[in-house]
Amino acid sequence: MPGEADPTSAAAEPDGQRRSPTNVIMVENVVKTYVLGEIQVHALRGVSLTIQRGDFVAIMGASGSGKSTLMHILGCLDLPTRGRYLLDGVDVRGMSEDELADVRNRKIGFVFQSFNLIPRTQALVNVELPLIYAGVRKGDRRRRAERALEEVGLADRMHHLPSELSGGQQQRVAVARAIATNPAIVLADEPTGNLDTTATHEVMDIFSRLNAQRRTVVLITHEEDVARHAKRVVRLVDGQVVEDRRQAPVAGLPPGYTVPSGAEAQAHAAARSRV
Ligand code: ADP
Ligand code: MG
Repeated sequence: MPGEADPTSAAAEPDGQRRSPTNVIMVENVVKTYVLGEIQVHALRGVSLTIQRGDFVAIMGASGSGKSTLMHILGCLDLPTRGRYLLDGVDVRGMSEDELADVRNRKIGFVFQSFNLIPRTQALVNVELPLIYAGVRKGDRRRRAERALEEVGLADRMHHLPSELSGGQQQRVAVARAIATNPAIVLADEPTGNLDTTATHEVMDIFSRLNAQRRTVVLITHEEDVARHAKRVVRLVDGQVVEDRRQAPVAGLPPGYTVPSGAEAQAHAAARSRV
């Protein structure tokens, strides 16, 4: 894409460490074909997509257009049949199963349409789960899970079970779980698909805030109202990108988002510097 930084030109930091490349996601000519006995399903037919750090991308398209397949590839839950995927400049094809699991846990936070919370398990413990997998010790784990729940406005619901929460609250727990490990990328597959208008608004406000804190957000939706919050809209038809439209600059705040004032703004700045 013209004007985009060369992903291989990762600049050296003053301390000699390599900074991560600007293009956090680079998908090149990705094809995904599912084979079901005699039948081949061409879910992705040559998708190329470059996403810069800090972008907020809505992926849109009709049912069956390949959105979830693309998200599974971006999230290293599945590999392309053909083509390349560089995550933070590293080709995922060269990674072992263990390395892929590690990348999924450290770099990526997932949010799904159906929340996927563990039933009969309080919100706090649900949010602690990825930290358990990451080997974070108990005290630290609890503090980080509490902070993530505070970030999504659920400080007063930490000990509730999923069944004691509304759909919007359950999805906010799922967002807290996704950000507990402080991932650079948040991937969400139709996160508002099961929510009413009010809850949709609350959840989108949280995604906008995460993006304002410099996290890269890639969100699948078929709702125009949801896509309006993104800085860029990519549309798929039959496994191909047919539209790639920028709604706001990568470097700025997401559309319609205003930075909270006073104490909230300070917390905001602190969170920004942590990422
Ligand atoms: P979307 O999320 O846009 O609705 P998907 O990526 O789920 O679309 O699916 C794209 C196409 O691939 C569809 O035709 C779907 O039926 C097919 N598909 C998705 N997952 C599988 C799978 N695991 N095995 C076989 N076909 C699949
Ligand atoms: Mg889908």
